[in-house]
Amino acid sequence: MQEKNQKVVTRFAPSPTGFMHIGGVRTALFAYLYARKNNGTFILRIEDTDKEREVPGSIKHIQESLTWLGIDWDFGPDKHGDFGSTIQSERLPTYIEYAHKLIEKGLAYPDPYTQEELAEFRKKADEEKRPFLYRDYRPEVFEKWDGKKPLRFKVPEIKRYKWNDVVRGELEAGEEALDDFILIKSDGYPTYNFAHIIDDLNMGVTHIMRGDEFISSTPRFLSLYNALEIEPPIFVSLPPILRDDRTKKLGKRDGAKDILEYREEGYLPEAMLNFLALIGWNPGTEQEIFTKDELIKAFDINKIQKAGGAFNEEKLDWMNKEHLRKLPVETVRDEISNRLKKNPTIGENEKLNDRNFLAKISDIVMDHISKWSDIDIMVGAGEIEYFFESPQYDHTLLYWKGNEDKETTKKHLEWVIETLKSADESFDSSDKVKSLIFDYATENGRGEVLWPLRVSLSGKEKSPDPFTLIYVLGRDESIKRITDAIGKLL
Ligand code: GLU
Repeated sequence: MQEKNQKVVTRFAPSPTGFMHIGGVRTALFAYLYARKNNGTFILRIEDTDKEREVPGSIKHIQESLTWLGIDWDFGPDKHGDFGSTIQSERLPTYIEYAHKLIEKGLAYPDPYTQEELAEFRKKADEEKRPFLYRDYRPEVFEKWDGKKPLRFKVPEIKRYKWNDVVRGELEAGEEALDDFILIKSDGYPTYNFAHIIDDLNMGVTHIMRGDEFISSTPRFLSLYNALEIEPPIFVSLPPILRDDRTKKLGKRDGAKDILEYREEGYLPEAMLNFLALIGWNPGTEQEIFTKDELIKAFDINKIQKAGGAFNEEKLDWMNKEHLRKLPVETVRDEISNRLKKNPTIGENEKLNDRNFLAKISDIVMDHISKWSDIDIMVGAGEIEYFFESPQYDHTLLYWKGNEDKETTKKHLEWVIETLKSADESFDSSDKVKSLIFDYATENGRGEVLWPLRVSLSGKEKSPDPFTLIYVLGRDESIKRITDAIGKLL
């Protein structure tokens, strides 16, 4: 660790299989935060040695996802280091070189068996109810490797391994995990087991931060580190992300989405980082809302938890809203107008170019949303349209508590029109509007006055209060709508 006085180097090593699960993103984030906190290096490595599982376009997708989140890498697919490319398929000669080192030491051998023979051995072991281990079938004499047969590791020593994990503490596991695993497959590509060890070595990785599902394979890794006479990096096993009910790991079926879907839904990258950082880690203080820089400052691998952390979408929404509140007003205005311009119902409305008007509706919209896509939901629910166009509604809605008192309703609405007409100042706040009307409403019955007034402006049973509506719509538009309402009463 730091006592070695080494520069911290971490890596995120996804396989390009088409999907950026939030669990993967959280791993990337922790590795990133730790590197940045220690002025270290963060590497994005692409583990593309399983050509069958590879999905075209994934590398771009990974880069786009991390870039959106502001997780920047020092070396990656677009930026080679002294060690060369960070894409494993572009590093094949390196793995072959290390494979030969092991062959020279007598610690690797070509697998002499065909798939059928191995299947036969496995079947026999099953029948005899004993575990199937490749090492039991290891040949006495090794052939020369032609590069076409799979190359297997000759596990040198069957023993218990003990190791330290920053999160889990002392761990140990034994013989059962050790076997002659494949180093290089028959297609010439290395296995994960082999490639990641060689890469971590060559890339100077000091801390391996990855999901704790790799713990059970660690004895294999340790036997290979030993064989190569290299010291393993520090292991930091991250806890899983669980479903909200904590019954099991969060999977696609539980609504685990690709990270870029959250972007589509209008979550802020800072909020996403903040949310993911607090799954399986907490700073030990009350603070919940963090900027990226604050996360870097506060991050401490010694506070990563062993137990899985739950994914709670409500918390994500809450956090996103907190981050939305921190945005500059201009950004908010632009986001709202861009969203609304894409909306089929009001996208063409001219008012969307009126910055003054947009500023007025921004506050209302922001009160109702926790992510940008909620704006579409508001429009869909008819909660925005009336700011843009005169509402359509049935006249019966104008009566307070359904009491069809046309005369009184008309009288109050006419009073408001007269009051608005004689108010010569422009309305610069809803409070200003309220000061004109509220006393009258109090004297004459708030429901009797304010209900029909509000309906005449919004056409809705529920909407912001009439003072806010008049403030947003402006005097002339408000007078027009109230006049229309009176017309409906005749
Ligand atoms: N390619 C591995 C994965 O996607 C990386 C594991 C590691 O970080 O070592 O799970």
